Amino acid sequence: MSEAEASALDQIRRVVGERGWVSPQEWERFLVEWRGLWHGRPAAIVRPGNTAEVAAVVRICAGAGLPIVPQAGNTSLCGGSVPDESGREVVLSVERLDRIRDVDPLDFTITAEAGCVLAEVQRVARAADRLCPLSLAADGSCRIGGNLATNAGGVHVLRYGSARRLALGLEVVLPDGRVWDGLRRLRKDNAGYDLKQLFIGAEGTLGIVTAAVLELFPLPRSRWVTLAAVPEPGEALELLAHTREQAGEALSSFEWISRFALDLVLRHIPGARDPLARAFEHYVLIELDSTLEGDGRLAERGLALLEEAGRRGVVCDAAVASSEQEVAGLWRLRESISAAQKHEGASVKHDVSVPLSRVPDFVAEARRRVEAEWPGVRVCAFGHLGDGNIHFNLSAPAEADAAASRAFLEHWGAFNRLVHEVVCELGGSIAAEHGIGRLKRDELRLVRSETELDLMRRLKATLDPAGIMNPGCIL
Ligand code: FAD
Ligand code: ZN
Repeated sequence: MSEAEASALDQIRRVVGERGWVSPQEWERFLVEWRGLWHGRPAAIVRPGNTAEVAAVVRICAGAGLPIVPQAGNTSLCGGSVPDESGREVVLSVERLDRIRDVDPLDFTITAEAGCVLAEVQRVARAADRLCPLSLAADGSCRIGGNLATNAGGVHVLRYGSARRLALGLEVVLPDGRVWDGLRRLRKDNAGYDLKQLFIGAEGTLGIVTAAVLELFPLPRSRWVTLAAVPEPGEALELLAHTREQAGEALSSFEWISRFALDLVLRHIPGARDPLARAFEHYVLIELDSTLEGDGRLAERGLALLEEAGRRGVVCDAAVASSEQEVAGLWRLRESISAAQKHEGASVKHDVSVPLSRVPDFVAEARRRVEAEWPGVRVCAFGHLGDGNIHFNLSAPAEADAAASRAFLEHWGAFNRLVHEVVCELGGSIAAEHGIGRLKRDELRLVRSETELDLMRRLKATLDPAGIMNPGCIL
């Protein structure tokens, strides 16, 4: 480290104070990501206490040419939130920016700082009789800054859209240390370019989100949830179309679970139980909701849907939740899949999307190719079927010992190429909701043309000419 860099770190330490300066003994949790695949070595880890401190840190880094890796909840799955091994990067955690600045039930908005945990934002909105619809299995640990930086999706995108559609305004510290206050609450605002959208989904490569205005919705007061078994993904798709026609706006989630994914949950998650007497190959979890208390029409509609689908052979069997506890039990089956898969040894993940109509082809063809590539590979597929977003995860063969698991993981790139080839043939995306990060950087060219990549590089060079914001991520 040069003298100028060392002096910059001293200045940063003075700016953030002792509370904001993370001592090396506490570094570990900031340096390893959720799956333990990426590990880095930083120059320093800082936790500024407010936007002004973030801006001061960025200004100092810009002056000394020190790269910055923004971090929020560190739950992302593409390696973008941890530093590289160079020992030069400063990890800037926004976790102390954790104030809800405002919640306004008449505006249907909440203004939250980047370090607010998503579950806390949902809770505060609920206390104001409003719904924050952004919802994912990492709710309890991911934070608003990370949700916006990854344009997080989750289980309600079908109805409410991803983070991009929910953000009305942003506050961002730019790579030169200026603060852009774009915390507007407008539903309509066509005054020039929509700058906030540049920073959403940019994975920390264009600036640091310090706060956001998110749109809220009326709180649902009744819901109807079923886990329905279907013969094949094709029937699941048919059921999706039929449910949308019949239930319209009431449909808030439509999630697909394959038998193997369900089996992992039943095996590894305490308290999880199969709600159906017999095993089936595929399931969908459907949620309908309504803002009316005790809305009996939901169940009427839901049951009519199931009956009709049963008559046509689209649904084989179904469990309908009859209490909030049962609703939570069904949702736990879906939301625990990633955690359950962790217990099952080495795994390779794919977060892809294809046009809805191509989901069955994708699942069949990707399965065929990986099974031919690696005999015994176990496909753990599930996902947000309503959005055409499939998590096509691969677990190592059941009997794999340590050496075989290592070999399986070393095959990561080859598996990716096989699966992503199918995605591209079907007109899909290799990064549906988790982002590109470092993991998929070299594959971005598969789904973006040279013209698009050129525009991205120019935008990056314009906003961050010194290239200090999360280098190595995305581009
Ligand atoms: P981090 O991991 O800290 O950071 C993510 C990226 O954003 C990094 O590149 C980082 O540099 C950048 N960043 C962080 N904070 C800022 C900031 N303030 N300003 C600028 N850049 C910043 N994702 C989904 O979309 N849908 C799901 O359904 C879903 N389910 C998940 C389930 C599990 C069990 C897990 C572990 C993860 C899941 N994820 C899902 C992935 C992850 O939770 C999301 O990507 C989430 O939005 C990341 O938020 P975070 O706060 O953890 O961000
Ligand atoms: Zn997901």
